[in-house]
Amino acid sequence: MCGQLALEQKIRHYYEGSIRLRINNNTTNVFSLEKVYHTGEVKLSLHRIFLKAPTPVIKSLVRFIKNPIEKHKKDIRIFIYKHSDEIESKNSASRPTPVVTKGKYFNLSTIMGRINEKYFHNRLRVMVSWGKAGIVMGKARSNIQFANFDANKNLIRVNPALDKRIVPEYFMEYIIFHEMLHKVVPPTISRSGRLCFHTKAFRQREREFKDFKKAVCWQRENWHRL
Ligand SMILES: [Zn+2]
Repeated sequence: MCGQLALEQKIRHYYEGSIRLRINNNTTNVFSLEKVYHTGEVKLSLHRIFLKAPTPVIKSLVRFIKNPIEKHKKDIRIFIYKHSDEIESKNSASRPTPVVTKGKYFNLSTIMGRINEKYFHNRLRVMVSWGKAGIVMGKARSNIQFANFDANKNLIRVNPALDKRIVPEYFMEYIIFHEMLHKVVPPTISRSGRLCFHTKAFRQREREFKDFKKAVCWQRENWHRL
């Protein structure tokens, strides 16, 4: 509880009003605020990740308490996103995600190891697995979703539709590189409060991939064969 006391003190340093703080371990409502209008008391419920929130985040929190508009939520959302792997999903705790890296044609952990060494100084700690067979991860126009990065589980899932002879190695590398970048380049938050993952900074970093143009070309011409 001493962490909670320290956090309360930090908040009180910037906020003079009456406040009641509760630390939660929720998976969805990690942050909630309620103002009791007749007393002016603020009931604040924060996930335990906030116990180590740095001063700028505390200041944003106070700004939001004083004036709870979407704009003031931005830094809070980014903080939550950055720590999302510490917000344990109850489902995932009881059902550990099976991690399968060996496919028929590709071994995902071998590919990731190579990319990690070449582009991330071997420093990125993230898991990779084939997604569930038979599940097409969303089809939009000419674009199958080939993979995704689950920040909660720190896991990259690759669509098993890619485990085919026709898929060139550089394309698999590109797909994994792209998802690894999601771990490195944080999303930004638009004015309306939506997370934007493929930011300008992200697109720039993506071009560092050696076969970027070739991979994009291959995708354009071959997606329908997958
Ligand atoms: Zn992406």
